[in-house]
Amino acid sequence: MPARPAKPKRIDHGSATAPRRARMMPAAQAEAFIRSLAVANPAPETELLYTDPFTLLVAVVLSAQTTDAAVNRCTPALFAAAPTPAAMAALGAEGIGPYIRTIGLWQGKARNVAALARDLVDKHGGQVPADRAALEALPGVGRKTANVVLNVVFGQETMAVDTHIFRLGNRCGLAPGRNVREVEERLVKRCPPALLRDAHHWLILHGRYVCKARAPECWRCVARAFCNYRDKVLAPPA
Ligand code: SF4
Repeated sequence: MPARPAKPKRIDHGSATAPRRARMMPAAQAEAFIRSLAVANPAPETELLYTDPFTLLVAVVLSAQTTDAAVNRCTPALFAAAPTPAAMAALGAEGIGPYIRTIGLWQGKARNVAALARDLVDKHGGQVPADRAALEALPGVGRKTANVVLNVVFGQETMAVDTHIFRLGNRCGLAPGRNVREVEERLVKRCPPALLRDAHHWLILHGRYVCKARAPECWRCVARAFCNYRDKVLAPPA
């Protein structure tokens, strides 16, 4: 009887908290990696729906541990009901809750959004502050959220490291690090300043749609020639 063909070995590509780590790229290779993403998507944008700094801030707070698509299903109705910090504060956590029940951790997020709206009214004249310390003092706003707002709204060269960028930075060797802060600091150092602002979007989108958590889709990766990952997936699953 002919021997059965051996099953292809399943490769563990790592997890969100323990991503595979490749040898760190030299600086010129890191720049080439980022430039290849830039060429493929010259005008990247956040996928969250928003109309102004306040609605972006709320959308980013709501997006913690939830997909942008799930947030975008809730926010148009929420922002129509409460388009300003004053209106959101008046709506309160109980009023916000029903709009966001379909996203993860909605009860805590409703409380945070109500409290941050109140703080914006009481301490910042109803405006989103362009200052990291002031942003991080708002309820529900951590370093990553502050980095997104500073980048997208205020044009600052920040790098918000989410789960996608953390995995990608480690897996391909662009900016290996044991925690998000290490990856953030390496990326800021290694990314050419002129590309830093958009690099946040390029890397998130690349991690979300190509260098995916379960298995990277290296066969269609525009940055493959510059990637140090040893277990590249060079063909789609049969
Ligand atoms: S070649 Fe593969 S592992 Fe490397 S960045 Fe592209 S998708 Fe990720």
